[in-house]
Amino acid sequence: MENSILFKQRNVFDYIDGETKKAVFDYAEGYMDFLANSKTERDAVKTAVAMAEKNGYVPYDFGNEIKVGGKYYFNNRGKALYLFKIGTEDIENGIRISAAHIDSPRLDLKQNPLYEDGNMAFFKTHYYGGIKKYQWLAIPLALHGVVCLRNGKTVDLVVGEDDGEPCFYVNDLLPHLGANQMSQKASEFVKGEDLNILVGSVPVEDKEEKSRIKLQVMQALNEKYGFTEEDFLSAELTLVPAYKPRDIGFDRSLIGAYGHDDKVCAYPEITAMFESESSPHTLLCILADKEETGSNGNTGMKSAVFTDIMYEISKALGANYNKVRHNSKCLSADVNAAFDPNFSDVFERQNSSYINGGVVMTKYTGARGKSGTNDAGAEYVAFVRNIFDEAGVIWQAGELGKVDAGGGGTVAAYVSERNIDTVDLGVAVISMHSPFEVISKADLYMTYKALLAFNK
Ligand code: MN
Ligand code: MN
Repeated sequence: MENSILFKQRNVFDYIDGETKKAVFDYAEGYMDFLANSKTERDAVKTAVAMAEKNGYVPYDFGNEIKVGGKYYFNNRGKALYLFKIGTEDIENGIRISAAHIDSPRLDLKQNPLYEDGNMAFFKTHYYGGIKKYQWLAIPLALHGVVCLRNGKTVDLVVGEDDGEPCFYVNDLLPHLGANQMSQKASEFVKGEDLNILVGSVPVEDKEEKSRIKLQVMQALNEKYGFTEEDFLSAELTLVPAYKPRDIGFDRSLIGAYGHDDKVCAYPEITAMFESESSPHTLLCILADKEETGSNGNTGMKSAVFTDIMYEISKALGANYNKVRHNSKCLSADVNAAFDPNFSDVFERQNSSYINGGVVMTKYTGARGKSGTNDAGAEYVAFVRNIFDEAGVIWQAGELGKVDAGGGGTVAAYVSERNIDTVDLGVAVISMHSPFEVISKADLYMTYKALLAFNK
């Protein structure tokens, strides 16, 4: 390891006492429960709203009264959530904002999904977010989402999460016939159009019918959920891995799960918010949708809802809105890639984040010459760093891989472009964007502590 005074690879477990260690493992239990019930953005909003209400937050709609001491949540179309708590401090000193995203890479059904072939029925999909397609073959999948009927009714669906329920599947090729497949590039041997979901194989009895297996699937769906094939046109149905979060390792220090990116930051955000009752600051906690496809749309971080809420708060308290934004501070809570010795060639050891290194502060993201980055100002990084050091938060600086090895972005740029100081902060992840990602419980806990210190 490099011998620099500045760069020191730390392990959180070397720096915490028995009591904190217990807190690390206890906190992870709550997170794993949250994550098991929050695989999609719609699931996560439901889970978070229930938690918010338990903590005294009340629904807010534009035009409602906002007053000092009030705790509110704005549920944007069931897919994004904004929690805010009005503090006693002068609002023109700014709002403390934390912003994570609650969507994760997955397979979305197409609008006309159902067909049959080879005595099997399938759903066609269009993948959502950046995935390695081959990772989605031959694993159990669950179906989540909504179907909106012509009569205005919405059918909520979750199939495949309970052991007693059927799950779904993308076929893979046997190795015996896989010679040609295996000789192709990994980015090419599974095409987007090959990610078809196996959903049935029994034909209807009537032999005169065409597409008899397809019809049987459709009849079963109609019986159970009351929708017809046409209703797929106004549906949002998505396939996610069907398994639950699990401890990893003999010491149980790690968690394997689908959707850590970015629920592993969303959970610390909301729990830190609930634990910040005595904070004098006005706090705004954002759980955004659509980050994995570019933060577009009215539920993504680029949506005006974000600043509309800041505007309403400013107006209600008689403050100058532009000044409120100018003095606001944000932690864009998102994950970074943990250094992985199995793939060390894409990491630069001196500037990577490490498993058990603590919460990661990422000054800049971007690709090819920092393109698209927020790149937090040195003054703001110093401000945040001082807060962490004073609160005993163990943190590390991290950059996403080697220069020109690739890159990525977060919602940070869409916050800071509204004239708000912003830096990325979150958890280092192994196998990011895979159907089973891995994080450290200690890093999760330090992210929670970091957000608590920031809110204080
Ligand atoms: Mn993310
Ligand atoms: Mn991501």
